[in-house]
Amino acid sequence: MKADVEIYDTTLRDGSQGEGVNFSVADKLRIAERLDAFGVHYIEGGWPGSNPKDLEFFRLAARRSWRNARIAAFSMTRRKGSKVEQDELMRQILEAETPVVTIVGKSWLLHVEEVLRVRPDENLAMIGDTVRYLKDHGKEVVYDAEHAFDGYRENPDYALATWQAAVTAGADCVCLCDSNGGRLPKEIAGIVRTAAARLTTRLGIHTHNDCGLGVANGLAGLEAGATHIQGTINGYGERTGNCNLTSIIPLVHFKLGRRGVPADSLPRLKELSEFVDEIANFRHDPRQPWVGQTAFAHKGGMHVHAVDRVARSYEHINPEAVGNARRVLVSDMSGRTNILMKAAELGFQLAPDAPETRAITTRVKELESQGYEYEAAEASLALLIRGILDHNPELLFTVDSYHVSMRSNGRQSVCEATVKVRVGDQVHHTVAEGDGPVNALDGALRSALVKSFPQLGKVALTDYKVRILDGVAGTAARTRVLITSSDGRREWGTVGVSENIITASLQALVDSIEYALLWQSK
Ligand SMILES: [Zn+2]
Repeated sequence: MKADVEIYDTTLRDGSQGEGVNFSVADKLRIAERLDAFGVHYIEGGWPGSNPKDLEFFRLAARRSWRNARIAAFSMTRRKGSKVEQDELMRQILEAETPVVTIVGKSWLLHVEEVLRVRPDENLAMIGDTVRYLKDHGKEVVYDAEHAFDGYRENPDYALATWQAAVTAGADCVCLCDSNGGRLPKEIAGIVRTAAARLTTRLGIHTHNDCGLGVANGLAGLEAGATHIQGTINGYGERTGNCNLTSIIPLVHFKLGRRGVPADSLPRLKELSEFVDEIANFRHDPRQPWVGQTAFAHKGGMHVHAVDRVARSYEHINPEAVGNARRVLVSDMSGRTNILMKAAELGFQLAPDAPETRAITTRVKELESQGYEYEAAEASLALLIRGILDHNPELLFTVDSYHVSMRSNGRQSVCEATVKVRVGDQVHHTVAEGDGPVNALDGALRSALVKSFPQLGKVALTDYKVRILDGVAGTAARTRVLITSSDGRREWGTVGVSENIITASLQALVDSIEYALLWQSK
């Protein structure tokens, strides 16, 4: 079914410009895969040519098939005084081989004359030439009108002329941007309404959160006639961030009553939000609307039934509709629903009342209280579920012993790991060096196991993150290690937790290899 509102995710481009956000290529692919599975309509992967990482992302993305989303590459209008077909930016954007290209251009005369230093008519030509050139190359073109609202306030005729230039050249969507986040919902609505009456193309809205109005302004745009909205998961982005899609997505569905992402994706919203934070190595904001841990938490103390009645009257929607849970009444049931959904995604069919389901839920809760997180470690969760369903299946291999050491000559340091593993009645003993302990351990473990399992030759560790968890009352701080592995076709995540970083890393590495052997490289 066609959507009424197109969700355009720019977490990987505008979002990655936020302070502290630094995605690796593997991170970007994992996030893109999740967004695709969730059902967003567009994923803006980056700005090819701005850095080699984005170029590599597009090279890998072009080889994958995407179920729901169209991949977009971002760039700007051709440079002044150059021919579009000779412009370096155009060469780079075509090289990204995406079906969609998003081009940013100027609407505000102040920027045209004082920042870009071109004549107003040359700016119009830059917009028109660029859009036409990309349409001629078969692209779907989204035109991002930078500072659209500030530009319109200062000179409405000129701003409209720039948007019209994109429409005339064949743009599929003109997206009005509140680039510095300074406008109010009423102003956004008024200008979007005027643009909707004048332009014959689809209209989009792109807002920033500098006044705390990113979501409100995005919503105002949608109510005034925009049918395309750009934003980021958890509101990542420059300064105070972009319009937060984890609010916009449920707002479109529950409050505007329009079709955005597929309805059956909504119960996975909280999980998507936590996944992206986990990959970005941020603590999930407990007070985040819709998806935060306290979003549906009620201070209780009354009789359970009374709280139930009161809680519902205090909630604007049913928390489970977005994968969240009411906190006073954290029933065993809601925990179980999440596990059942997650298990089904991983290919396990569990009955809600089966004793195994209860055992898995209890085990997951136990481990989460020790610091494990499964949002981005689906492979570890799959192994845990398999372990309980198959009543502790025989291990494919065991690590008998290991040793990690580091030496440094003051300038360079090298880590060395030795590992002894057992596969059936065979014992392999290997040594490897690496630029860090995890790297060395991974090398030793895989070179020991590849003798028995040659399919591991294709598997590589692509990323790992370390988070120190606060010690709770009297216990030492624990370390959580999250590892991403790849077999070249897809990525999977595993987790380890320990007071010792090496032990935590080994757990995550062992899970990663077991998962590869059981699920991936068959
Ligand atoms: Zn922006």
